[in-house]
Amino acid sequence: MRTLPLVVMGAGALAACSREKPNILIIQCDQLATRAIGAYGQIQGHTDVIDSLARNGVIFDNAYTSCGLSQPSRTALLTGLYPHQSGVRSNSGKWLNHDVDESLPTLGQIFSDAGYNAVHFGKRHDCGALRGFTHKEPVQTKYQDPLVPLNQDSFKDVGTCADAVGFLSDPGEGPFICMVDFQNPHNICSYVGAAAGPHDVAESADLPPLPDNFEVEDWSALPIPVQYLCCNHRRLEQASHWSPENYRQYIAAYMRYVEIVCAQIRQVLNALESTPAGRNTIIVLLADHGDAMASHRMVTKMVDFHEESVKVPLIICGPGIPGRGEHLGQLVQTSTDFIPTLCGLAGIQAPSSLKGISQAPSVLGRRQAENHSYVVSEWHSEYDRIVSPGRMIRSVEGFKYTHYLEGNGEELYDLTNDPGEMHNLARNPRYADVLERHRAMLDEYIAASGDDYRSLQVKVDPKYRMHSPGYPSHIDGYNLWNFCNPSAAPSSENP
Ligand code: ZN
Repeated sequence: MRTLPLVVMGAGALAACSREKPNILIIQCDQLATRAIGAYGQIQGHTDVIDSLARNGVIFDNAYTSCGLSQPSRTALLTGLYPHQSGVRSNSGKWLNHDVDESLPTLGQIFSDAGYNAVHFGKRHDCGALRGFTHKEPVQTKYQDPLVPLNQDSFKDVGTCADAVGFLSDPGEGPFICMVDFQNPHNICSYVGAAAGPHDVAESADLPPLPDNFEVEDWSALPIPVQYLCCNHRRLEQASHWSPENYRQYIAAYMRYVEIVCAQIRQVLNALESTPAGRNTIIVLLADHGDAMASHRMVTKMVDFHEESVKVPLIICGPGIPGRGEHLGQLVQTSTDFIPTLCGLAGIQAPSSLKGISQAPSVLGRRQAENHSYVVSEWHSEYDRIVSPGRMIRSVEGFKYTHYLEGNGEELYDLTNDPGEMHNLARNPRYADVLERHRAMLDEYIAASGDDYRSLQVKVDPKYRMHSPGYPSHIDGYNLWNFCNPSAAPSSENP
């Protein structure tokens, strides 16, 4: 396969245009897991275009989203805030999530004020946080794929790709910040609907293997909201009785959606590379959240704080960035660090109200004087019908601590010795000190960020907690969506 043309300039070229502000191209994918990306070292051979970016830049190995759900994650990224601060905690509409306050700085506004042409293509889901960007809504184009069913996610990406290619082929004068928001591999969600329930797998020989952390050894050791994801969420219900081969087929389908979006990313980068502006463009690739990819018998993402759901890819390359496939291990909080980092790379003063850490020094090969001792992820609800708030602390010590208000559930994982998060140590007396330290970190975060977590209300009808713990014990038809969401009845495009 063709190697991506270099858009990284040599030292001489950099010096020649050091007075120019760099352009910035942000490519965000919805639900792209690090595990699917070759540069992250697990599954190889599906993401050549992303791997090429990584070889020409830096790869953040420990970047975490502040929420494993689209709208809160995106709004947080664009405002530099945590979900509880932006006011956008779920995927619900404006009747529950208010539009982002107009007094808050946003990524688009900051760069527009600095003289950038700020343009956005593709998925919004932003509650007004795209303020400052000129947005173009993608036109859907229906088509078929020989391997996987497609829905509006894939159809919209055709328009998003065409819009981005059109702009980047002739970006005009002056610096630009261009954000391209692809839906895929999010199309995997409706794949689950199309493959609901246990079903025969025609050919299993070529299916990818299950992850090492596929099985859950002790459901009762998990917090209640995680035990009953099958009752919260129709995708988990639809997969609750799948066979191992069905999960393997899920991984194969997921990787196909990844390949589809990678082909579009390649078109976008080819367009960028075709113009002189491409030589002065910093490229950022990231995702709003991950995908379980069959870890812990999960599909998609929901409620949980597993690595597969909340750790996200973050790759940066471009002029002045000396890294050549360098992996950076520091903790990154994508929502709070994104704006300060981009401002640092562009030579723009970030608003003092933003509390994130600029990762620009390490991206530019300089000493990173300030780092996080822990990063955080929040959960509230998907559509506010079940509300089961939780918080995650991922510390520089290499532990992950989670807390859910419902049942006062806790998890503690030693990510160094148990990267698959198979053994919850929260009740292990040998880790009592570790547990206390991480509880204190959560308290510190709550106090420092003005988090109202402890006063939030759990809203769960007991009928969603009826069966024995675990998705394999799920009772068919006993799902939130069946009781509460008749308007969201499955359609042919979103089964
Ligand atoms: Zn269930």
